[in-house]
Amino acid sequence: MNAVLPGAGSGPSVLSASLKGRCPRCGKGRLFRGYLAVRPSCAACELDFSGFEAGDGPAVFVILIVGAIVAGGALLTEVAFQPPYWVHALLWGPTLVILSLAFLRPLKAAMIVLQYKHRAEEGRRVR
Ligand SMILES: [Zn+2]
Repeated sequence: MNAVLPGAGSGPSVLSASLKGRCPRCGKGRLFRGYLAVRPSCAACELDFSGFEAGDGPAVFVILIVGAIVAGGALLTEVAFQPPYWVHALLWGPTLVILSLAFLRPLKAAMIVLQYKHRAEEGRRVR
């Protein structure tokens, strides 16, 4: 099994590589070229990143996680303080944007790291 992706069971932890945006195999090379663009390969160990595709997964998790945080926070604020609506808009609008931007990159990295760790790839027909 390890002949396909040597060292897939070792390397940095999923949490560490995801939060730092590092290569899932060596933990040294950067995974991203900009904010969300994935590099073609690792500069340190030359692992090819082109086979990894997170798709819409990170955005779905951001919607679920940040939506729960903001909706829960807005409900608790309303129940506890009954502020005017402009306070909610002022408080939760920027919070929504900031948390979404903060969560998107680590979640995309986590999906790529998990694809590497579990050797996930597109299905192929076996004959
Ligand atoms: Zn690497």
